[in-house]
Amino acid sequence: AHLDRIAAVDDRVHAFLHVDAEGALEAARAVDARRAAGEELGPLAGVPVGVKDVVTTRGVPTTAGSKILEGWRPPYDATIVERLRAAGTVMLGKTNMDEFAMGSSTEYSAYGPTNNPWDLGRIPGGSGGGSAAALAAYEAPLTIGTDTGGSIRQPGAVTGTVGAKPTYGGTSRYGLIAFSSSLDTPGPCARTVEDAALLHAVIAGHDPRDSTSIPAPVPPVVEAARLGATGDLTGVKLGLVTQFAGEGAEPGVMAAFRDAVDALTKLGAEIVEVSCPNFEYALPAYYLIAPSECSSNLARFDGVRFGLRVGDDGAKSLEEVMSITRDAGFGPEVKRRIMLGTYALSSGYYDAYYGQAQKVRTLITRDFTAAFEQVDALISPTTPFVAFPFGARTSDPYQMYLADLYTIPTNLYGGPAISVPCGLSEGLPVGLQVMAPTMADDRMYRVASALE
Ligand code: GLN
Repeated sequence: AHLDRIAAVDDRVHAFLHVDAEGALEAARAVDARRAAGEELGPLAGVPVGVKDVVTTRGVPTTAGSKILEGWRPPYDATIVERLRAAGTVMLGKTNMDEFAMGSSTEYSAYGPTNNPWDLGRIPGGSGGGSAAALAAYEAPLTIGTDTGGSIRQPGAVTGTVGAKPTYGGTSRYGLIAFSSSLDTPGPCARTVEDAALLHAVIAGHDPRDSTSIPAPVPPVVEAARLGATGDLTGVKLGLVTQFAGEGAEPGVMAAFRDAVDALTKLGAEIVEVSCPNFEYALPAYYLIAPSECSSNLARFDGVRFGLRVGDDGAKSLEEVMSITRDAGFGPEVKRRIMLGTYALSSGYYDAYYGQAQKVRTLITRDFTAAFEQVDALISPTTPFVAFPFGARTSDPYQMYLADLYTIPTNLYGGPAISVPCGLSEGLPVGLQVMAPTMADDRMYRVASALE
């Protein structure tokens, strides 16, 4: 049914870069056979899943939305894909994204943007716009995203779906094509909070192949989502971040958010204001740290090891082949990030930019730690604005970067955060974000599920 739905609507939505119909049917038949043999199957056995194209899938094209990886078929599965297969889920294919997960609209995909199912002339968010749009268009019931600065939550918010960024290290990065290794976090996207929790439980948990993976049990996320669904938040204390009050957000977004805060109060939650004075420096710190790590990570795309290679005819040196390949294979936003990062890391500037940004990161972590001594979780709008029309923010990078104003602090800290639909503004979806302490992923599911 999902393959039929994709065939019927994806020429308009363009959520998928690659549909693996044959692989999906084969996986579905294998689940049927296991069931027929009387095997006990997990809760997601036979459930179709779309996977963001930045995640390696054995034998299935993986481009990260870039021309430089066109035609590359990875020889291995990411850990989270291994776990999806072991759970009996059926992979439908690979979802569209901004090139190397850099962007907030999918307009930077080298293969053309994804259209928001709510209004095909508007962006579906990014970088994981394909994963969110596939859910909103009923092309898949579950999808995988990755969140470095907001790429799971912001697309969730602007498509009226749920997106959760787990605690950094709670889900394995092994087999993700790296953007910013100290921030990248794979996580679940779904249409309901409980569905997201079910997917979270399947992909999460310690992985010895990722040195930053946390060797601790997965928090009880499914139980928490079900507890939240009873609609009782008595005794739960939620914090509104003073520094986020209205700053940069559209009035319609703030109105929907305030209504959601009222609803949370009626469910028994106590709401207080919490000051996080360093949050205002999160965006500039992120745009030094993430490009710095990206400039290092993307050095591996050299025309020799993976995908595209041009310049063999006429180039005078290996270095020239690499430079011609990288010039042809990377899009403008990726080049901007590589240049920014290379500059910030160069000797003489390192202390002034990268070193300074790392200090800010520590201060933001302290803000979170102090906040969670006062409240159980923080809440905010997920993103300052609803889905915008194509082209509205591409001419000024800063305007695009603002989409992640409220999501980025969490990445710098490393805690979990979820976006859940909380109403409409001008007929378009608005998301509410719940941020929790590291390894308290269950807490964010409880609060989000109660609101739903
Ligand atoms: N939009 C942010 C950026 O462009 C975040 C991207 C992400 O989370 N992958 O870097």
